[in-house]
Amino acid sequence: MVVGDVTTGTDVLVIGGGPAGYAAAIRAGQLDLDVTLVEKDAYGGTCLNHGCIPSKALITATDVAHEARHAEEMGIHADPAVDMAGMVDWKDGVVDQLTSGVEKLCKANGVSLMEGTAKFADENSVRVSHGGEGQGSESVDFEHAIVATGSRPIQIPGFDFADEPVLSSKDALSLGSVPESLVIVGAGYIGMELAGVYAKLGTDVTVVEMLDEMLPAYPDDLARPVAQRAEELGIDFHFGYSASEWQDLGDGIRVVAEPADAVASDGGAEAVEADPIELDTEKVLVAVGRQPVSDTLDIEAAGIETDDRGFIPTDDRGRTNVDHIHAVGDVAGEPMLAHKGMYEGETVAEVIAGEPAAIDYQAMPAVVFTDPEIATVGMTEDEVDDAGFEPLVGKFPFRASGRALTTGHADGFVKVVADEESGFLLGASVVGPEASELLGELGLAVELGATVEDVSSTIHAHPTLSESVMEAAANALDQAIHTLNR
Ligand SMILES: Cc1cc2nc3c(=O)[nH]c(=O)nc-3n(C[C@H](O)[C@H](O)[C@H](O)COP(=O)(O)OP(=O)(O)OC[C@H]3O[C@@H](n4cnc5c(N)ncnc54)[C@H](O)[C@@H]3O)c2cc1C
Repeated sequence: MVVGDVTTGTDVLVIGGGPAGYAAAIRAGQLDLDVTLVEKDAYGGTCLNHGCIPSKALITATDVAHEARHAEEMGIHADPAVDMAGMVDWKDGVVDQLTSGVEKLCKANGVSLMEGTAKFADENSVRVSHGGEGQGSESVDFEHAIVATGSRPIQIPGFDFADEPVLSSKDALSLGSVPESLVIVGAGYIGMELAGVYAKLGTDVTVVEMLDEMLPAYPDDLARPVAQRAEELGIDFHFGYSASEWQDLGDGIRVVAEPADAVASDGGAEAVEADPIELDTEKVLVAVGRQPVSDTLDIEAAGIETDDRGFIPTDDRGRTNVDHIHAVGDVAGEPMLAHKGMYEGETVAEVIAGEPAAIDYQAMPAVVFTDPEIATVGMTEDEVDDAGFEPLVGKFPFRASGRALTTGHADGFVKVVADEESGFLLGASVVGPEASELLGELGLAVELGATVEDVSSTIHAHPTLSESVMEAAANALDQAIHTLNR
């Protein structure tokens, strides 16, 4: 029998085994739904294989070397040698452990795994091709489908990821040796995280950004400590330039960048009068953002609509315009973050199981793993104001934290924003040491509707960085002990 003739059926078909898809599949399995997960490449998706995990592994490893090299103040004198291939091997080991864990968890929760590429045939079936010579394809009928096909890096004209010196973020996480120089196109979070990695490894890093600032999605007070640190690390910036082409020089390349109409972060446009710049470098990393993978699925065969950027719009139950087909994760829109996808995936599985679940983004966190880290949850001060509340703000600088000083990292602050009248915490941001971890408590406070008084009157162990959260809340009430209340 030809493999292509086989038709199988499933209640819930999940397309894509990244964090959004595997979380949906595992939750559906827990809810006793008959679920099949189709993955074309590697379980864990971008996050585990080419994104969150490998980038954080390299950030940690380079920090170990960098910290050791710069610990003279603590009486430590060391000059560690970095073996890039060894570092990448260790990172790959972490990735392998996690991806095989995802596969085991899926199986243990009763998820049927299917390797192949799914395309819609109509609104109740897909064709899954198993790739490779003679491996054929099969049809899978479904009652419900969850599209979790993620995103891919955006390519810009003149820079083809197939060309050896042109790197995508995926390539930049698996280099065999430390490049002497690197031009990074794009000063968003991926570009800035990798700029830090390579600057700390000794690479001469230059960042070209079309806009007029780094990390444009974040308020100035949060981005400033990162900008200062980048300067200390020797990273060069060219704002208001757009990379247009690269030329082969034989022993390296030349990246040409034209002056862009630098779109100011406030939305205004300002013409930049300047000549093109030419940057000689070993490699160029293009990190200008990501686009949804919705164009390779034949979604039109199922009648699924996309917006003008290719995202699949969904309602608060994760439903597309076709009621029994859901979309979760990067393909369903911003913010393109792994935890947002996992949350959507789990919620949608519950919706399909008939539970009274709905998606609520009020306490959605976001973290940039730069040096120092930036972490935010809930509303910013401006958003609180725009929503008609009187913002009540409390702030605590890490330089007043005993624990921060003992780690040697005391840049940055914790800031909380509440509604003046009720005291409810509506948002928080942290820039500084372990901001990513400190955010957990703040997210819980926003989610539970805690007041600044609740947070400030919770006893925090001493000496910890988390005391800064308590102090920021107390500062909002003019009751901070370790900083001046003004
Ligand atoms: C360098 C980098 C660093 C990042 N760091 C962070 C971070 O620190 N924190 C964070 O929250 N996010 C981070 N992200 C973003 C994060 O990786 C994504 O938001 C997350 O992976 C999205 O999950 P997803 O399941 O929607 O999609 P993906 O992880 O992209 O998974 C989609 C899966 O679908 C599969 N697929 C696609 N089409 C088909 C098809 N037709 N048939 C079968 N399978 C298909 C793909 O092979 C893939 O495995 C980072 C991204 C990058 C690139």
